[in-house]
Amino acid sequence: MATEQTFIMIKPDGVQRGLIGEVIGRFEKKGFYLKAMKLVNVEKSFAEKHYADLSSKPFFGGLVEYIVSGPVVAMVWEGKQVVATGRKIVGATNPLAAEPGTIRGDFAVDIGRNVIHGSDSVENARKEIALWFPEGIAEWRSSQHPWIYEA
Ligand code: GDP
Ligand code: MG
Repeated sequence: MATEQTFIMIKPDGVQRGLIGEVIGRFEKKGFYLKAMKLVNVEKSFAEKHYADLSSKPFFGGLVEYIVSGPVVAMVWEGKQVVATGRKIVGATNPLAAEPGTIRGDFAVDIGRNVIHGSDSVENARKEIALWFPEGIAEWRSSQHPWIYEA
């Protein structure tokens, strides 16, 4: 299978609001595979590293405060075109612009409380997975695989 992996993070508001199961269920039911997951509180320096590309933005300080404000759920999901499709499942950055049916469209209002992160490219996914899971990820394949993927 020409497969991809993406990094998905349920942000502190998603954890506090009890949306962990909802988020996991959407990726699971689609036919993607969970390859790593942990609930963690991250340090400010770690959040700054994750969002390093945005360090010049006026909202950067608030964004880092938001990410360290409580535990997050860090995950690796695998499957065909999971990076781009994961972004569609997540929805537009501004939840008021996000389509109903997407996670942000269904569960969020403000851009600074948008519940979830998803990698925006295969290359950034690779970097984010290496940053969040230096210990490596699980190796497994669902027995349902042939019922989801034609080949
Ligand atoms: P994403 O890839 O859709 O998450 O969006 P970006 O990579 O552009 O931004 C990362 C995160 O920063 C977003 O998910 C928001 O939580 C936050 N963010 C982005 N733009 C803004 C903004 O204009 N204002 C605020 N307060 N937060 C923002
Ligand atoms: Mg982004």
